Amino acid sequence: MARDVMTVDARISDHLAGATGTITIDLGRIAANWKALADKVAPARCGAVVKANAYGLGADRVIPALYRAGCTAFFIATPAEAEAARLLAPDADIYALDGLVGNAAQIFVRHNIHPVLSTLDDVAAWSLAARNHGDALPAALHIDTGLNRLGLPSRDVRRLAADPALLSGIRVELVMSHLASADVPNDPKNREQLVAFGTLSALFPNVPKSLAASDGLMLGPAYHFEIVRPGYALYGGQASAADTAPVAPAVTVAARILAVTAIAPGETVGYSATWQAERASRIATIAAGYADGIPRSAGCSNGETGGHVIIGGHRAPIVGRISMDLITVDVTDLPIDAAKPGAFATLVGNGLTIEDQGFAAGTIGYEILTRLGPRFTRLYIDERT
Ligand SMILES: *Cc1c(COP(=O)(O)O)cnc(C)c1O
Repeated sequence: MARDVMTVDARISDHLAGATGTITIDLGRIAANWKALADKVAPARCGAVVKANAYGLGADRVIPALYRAGCTAFFIATPAEAEAARLLAPDADIYALDGLVGNAAQIFVRHNIHPVLSTLDDVAAWSLAARNHGDALPAALHIDTGLNRLGLPSRDVRRLAADPALLSGIRVELVMSHLASADVPNDPKNREQLVAFGTLSALFPNVPKSLAASDGLMLGPAYHFEIVRPGYALYGGQASAADTAPVAPAVTVAARILAVTAIAPGETVGYSATWQAERASRIATIAAGYADGIPRSAGCSNGETGGHVIIGGHRAPIVGRISMDLITVDVTDLPIDAAKPGAFATLVGNGLTIEDQGFAAGTIGYEILTRLGPRFTRLYIDERT
């Protein structure tokens, strides 16, 4: 259930005094989402993908909340993210998806991070690091089964299996792959990748396996293996086009109304005058723009449908171009006292999902979530309150 922004607003009004925009992050909801996914995939283990600063929501708050909820496996992308995660989850398994980029090997040895090895060069470098370290080092092997993005191609997987010396000093704790089309449940590519993963991962018997992210875990138990890797769903995102994950929205985004202007028919709004009023109109100007991660493509010329915001419980359409710091919305059909300067307009929440905003901007909810900028004040609803 989406929380009422104004209730939260009242509780934390001190923080809000100078805020032009807010992102309210419900840590209890994120923890509950993780638990619901863990229940769904049991007896498989449920990890948490917290790369990109926990999808922009603040790894420093999200990781401890998940850790307290019982999550013991975290996936991040970069060495810097790994280092930060280790401080927050002292004895969890932390997997670094980008592998041994730069001087990562030193960092990973020091902080007991599991690199996800996707090339033979990375395997050789980690094996060498283990020799220098004088003890075996943990890692995951990433197999590419058709995404052709990152992961060992099948011939390299077979080479490793045929020549265990290549893996000397490496304790393989996980064999994983990633699905290309799991958001479309009946796409034949899912089955093809499942079969390829089954064949190639069987070359490493008795090692835990992982294939599914938020969308893949909705494809059923055949895709769960020993551990699943949801990210987006933890934050309330619905990743699958067909199946509804047992999660609820955890994020509300709001920005202040700065001004409300009455304009005459024929007047235009915004850069390049792409939207023209066909009637006497009231335009509310909101303090967020593309510099804050609201895509410019969510703007709207006459005859198009763009994004919406919610003001006082009413939906209002974005009109004209989105500029760097500002969005203009048509509030003509709203009650006069709903849209007032100083009030908050909801960009995500109150029934408007990140998927809605992604769709309106010609992108996906993931991009909306991860690009929300630093000018939003992040407010946390603690999982224990
Ligand atoms: C980002 C990522 C995930 C998480 O994906 P979601 O769709 O957010 O659940 C899982 N595995 C890999 C390899 C990833 O890169």
